Amino acid sequence: MQVFPCPFCGLRDETEFHFAVEAGHARPEPAAEVSDADWAAYLYLHKAPKGASREVWLHTTCGEYFIMTRNTVSREVLSSEALPGGEA
Ligand SMILES: [Zn+2]
Repeated sequence: MQVFPCPFCGLRDETEFHFAVEAGHARPEPAAEVSDADWAAYLYLHKAPKGASREVWLHTTCGEYFIMTRNTVSREVLSSEALPGGEA
């Protein structure tokens, strides 16, 4: 069992959180002009780094999205911060 820090609620059980997306993985726009290849890349190709990873998470209890940086190898949480406007 792991504990994650919500920037709004503090430390909570991992079961209260849901991974959303890698931070900076922006949806291609405008949708009507996006090729099938670019759309497939957006949906299925991710960096999945080994080590520090900056990710957007949802705390399902409070409903807030935020950025959590964590080490994908050691599972250590390096930081947790409110989502700046417009980033996803
Ligand atoms: Zn929260």
